[in-house]
Amino acid sequence: MLSTPLSADHRSGFIALIGRPNVGKSTLVNQLVGEKVAITSPVAQTTRNRLRAILTTEVAQMVLVDTPGIHKPHHLLGERLVQSARTAIGEVDLVVLLLEGCERPGRGDGFIVNLLRQQPLPVIVVLNKWDKVAPDQQEASEAAYDELLSGLDWPRYRCSALSGEGCSDLSVDMAAMLPTGPQLYPPEMVCDQPERVLMGELIREQVLLHTREEVPHSVAVTIDRVEEMPAKGKGGGRTAVLATVLVERKSQKGILIGKGGAMLKTIGQGARLQMQTLIDGPVYLELFVKVVPDWRSKPQRLNELGYGVNTP
Ligand code: GDP
Ligand code: MG
Repeated sequence: MLSTPLSADHRSGFIALIGRPNVGKSTLVNQLVGEKVAITSPVAQTTRNRLRAILTTEVAQMVLVDTPGIHKPHHLLGERLVQSARTAIGEVDLVVLLLEGCERPGRGDGFIVNLLRQQPLPVIVVLNKWDKVAPDQQEASEAAYDELLSGLDWPRYRCSALSGEGCSDLSVDMAAMLPTGPQLYPPEMVCDQPERVLMGELIREQVLLHTREEVPHSVAVTIDRVEEMPAKGKGGGRTAVLATVLVERKSQKGILIGKGGAMLKTIGQGARLQMQTLIDGPVYLELFVKVVPDWRSKPQRLNELGYGVNTP
């Protein structure tokens, strides 16, 4: 099939989504590409791996870099998350700064705005979660952000990454602010991460969704095996996935497994359904839980799990 030649002013480039944890970066990535490539959750700091999602339109190709939120480092993992966000700014053509429209600016926002002020990249501001701002509050919300952004001529959008409102105007302007250039990825590609990484992330998402505070930050997932099962016989035609959830403490393992294995079953079922959508076919998922004391503070372990400094 012959593809239409790209016009002379076709644009392309990398766009970093920057903002505090929980502001809706991953939700916006999914909304813009129209598919679930980034995991989201009500728990802050969900995004651990840098992920590139690709949005191809008739006039442009935008490579969206979903970064972890910038925040104060607490321990080794935290420091690497921050480092990764700073690095993202250095590698892109445009920054989309997400702010929580439904709340007043916080100290974290000031820190991010200052970081961005000091660099020459174009910036677009998104006041996200605008669906949560009552009509009589809109003016006050805008005014609060006027102060934070004073002296800056960054264009501003009011959006709901969740419902999609305001997002198509945003993507038109994002494209227009990129340099002219060719397509960087095949147009049908929506994500640069291998399926295995996405599968691991879908499992981690279910863990975040179903467990309490003490578990989430100390969870990592490895996908140990992915195998197509033969069409005939029991479970035939399905994709078998064997995965391990790593936790730091025995008590966390207990929580994850739950009474009579109930929690692990819930997590597995949720992840399996999401994986079926991802690979568009039936999945058989087997989950194990393993205790690796203090994995977050061990550089070698972090590298193996893909959180290394040079392997975002
Ligand atoms: P991230 O940490 O910046 O990647 O934030 P997420 O994308 O994981 O979103 C954090 C939470 O905010 C999730 O529960 C989302 O469903 C929710 N959320 C994101 N965008 C919106 C929005 O526009 N409106 C509303 N009401 N909720 C949103
Ligand atoms: Mg995220």
